[in-house]
Amino acid sequence: MKRLSGIPASSGISAGIACLYQSKSVPEISRLHIPESQCECEELRFTAAVSEASREIQALCEQSDPSAGDSTAIFQAHLMMIEDPEFHRQIRNHIHREHANAEWALWECSAELAHKLEISPEPYLRERAADINDVTHRILNCLSPAYAAPEHLEENTILIVHDLLPSELLALDRTKLKGIVSDAGGATSHTAILASAFGIPAVVGLHTAMQEINSGELVVVDGDSGQVIVGADAFDHYRTSILKRHKEDWESLRDLPAQTLDGHRVLLKANIGNPAEAEHVLQYGAEGVGLFRSEFLFLRTEHRLTEEDQYRDYRQVIDALGERPVTIRTIDCGGDKILHSIQLDDEKNPLLGWRAIRIMLARPDFFKTQIRAILRAAAGKTVEILFPLISGVEELIQAREFVEEAKQECREKKLPFAENISIGSMIEVPAAAVTADILAEYSDFLSIGTNDLVQYTLAVDRNNEKVNYLAQPFHPAIIRLIKRTIDAAHHAGIKVTLCGELAGNPSAAKLLIGLDLDVFSMRAQSIPTIKQIIRQTTLEECHHLAKQVLSSTTIQQVIALVEAGAGKP
Ligand code: PEP
Ligand code: MG
Repeated sequence: MKRLSGIPASSGISAGIACLYQSKSVPEISRLHIPESQCECEELRFTAAVSEASREIQALCEQSDPSAGDSTAIFQAHLMMIEDPEFHRQIRNHIHREHANAEWALWECSAELAHKLEISPEPYLRERAADINDVTHRILNCLSPAYAAPEHLEENTILIVHDLLPSELLALDRTKLKGIVSDAGGATSHTAILASAFGIPAVVGLHTAMQEINSGELVVVDGDSGQVIVGADAFDHYRTSILKRHKEDWESLRDLPAQTLDGHRVLLKANIGNPAEAEHVLQYGAEGVGLFRSEFLFLRTEHRLTEEDQYRDYRQVIDALGERPVTIRTIDCGGDKILHSIQLDDEKNPLLGWRAIRIMLARPDFFKTQIRAILRAAAGKTVEILFPLISGVEELIQAREFVEEAKQECREKKLPFAENISIGSMIEVPAAAVTADILAEYSDFLSIGTNDLVQYTLAVDRNNEKVNYLAQPFHPAIIRLIKRTIDAAHHAGIKVTLCGELAGNPSAAKLLIGLDLDVFSMRAQSIPTIKQIIRQTTLEECHHLAKQVLSSTTIQQVIALVEAGAGKP
């Protein structure tokens, strides 16, 4: 029995069969030196892999829904690429000239071709680079049996990856996916957040899982402790703990208020990423949806969503929540959430680049379509709009103007809509936290996104496991920025939500109450635990803890204080 330790990223425990998958984001192709006498064999391997890949694409063409004409066209274009004689010639030449293995020759030639397309001034040609990558990965999967194609997951798969893009996770058959183990990534990466939204246990940041686990091995993923157990005996050992842990009875807490012993009431809401999740959040006692990450609607499809498509999705969430409030965040793409229909160019620094509100302000067509859909779905309901990655008040003012224009467009079309919708700003950039008093003047509420606030304040990429140890929400700088934001908002008479992962962290619950936070928004499964902590403490005790934390100078001191005072049930 082998035991590996990583970062717990999505809670729960599951067991299944390992499937090594080479994510499209990080290809790891080895360069082998092939003696002259064996170059012909490599050529034959390549030709066989191309034939197999062609058959797969052909089958996809035949299976694709005729009403979804685009997907058939995409597969037909892939077939043309894969059968292109010039492409084959280049790869054969590369194998012989460089004495290279077929995988390497394919990778090199495709990368060159994709690069030429990527720098083309023609958007159509630039988009074709993604098709080249797709076709290349399909052939690579045929060449190298170690890499299973994710579309063909077996029952009870535990996916072992270096890294996984959110769009790849969305494309997987989640009925068969039982767990995710990744060498890269951090607990607040979007893939971790999505895995958790889908209730798929995940452990990330393991560094060596791809080397230590083989496809077909039995694996247990413990997303609470960060342990990954490999080997046949792992099962018995863990079957017992699964049963024990899942017996926790949180149902009795569901209808009780999130209120301290001395009567201080806060709200506990859920974060969701897709409309279907909304139906499940109430069973955990969610008092609303505090963050609907709307971009996941767009990442799930290659097609551009119409106003009507979006209206239906928002309505589904709003209806599922009944009278409870719903906060819809406008599209927050960029960084690790690439929306290919808008973002055509690769950026050197995507996390500091064209993302979130910046894209929406530059693309009013896209932005106003979404806002109209929200405004219409919100008619007669309690819905809020939230703008991501606000870094200055100018952006907020401009975004609000678009909301007014969208309202006017609804009026002209005589469509019912929410005239008095509340508008909030996310506080995710240090500049926003420092100027929270200014933003508060133009906002109906503020929502602190600690995942990004940590990333940008501490200069640490939230998806990079090498610097993950620095991503510390208990850093005194973060605590001070949170307090500053809350005080500024209260001074302006508005409320503050915290919707980063910190909201669901049991160690932070008392501290956040003591910092005077109004609303916690988290993955729904964490709500019972946080509620229990809140119900067993007093506001006075929490204020005392917050005071001590605010005068601490190191992360260690803060952690020691919150752990001592966390009062975990
Ligand atoms: C955050 O940054 O804390 C947040 C809630 O937004 P996201 O995790 O989607 O970037
Ligand atoms: Mg964010």
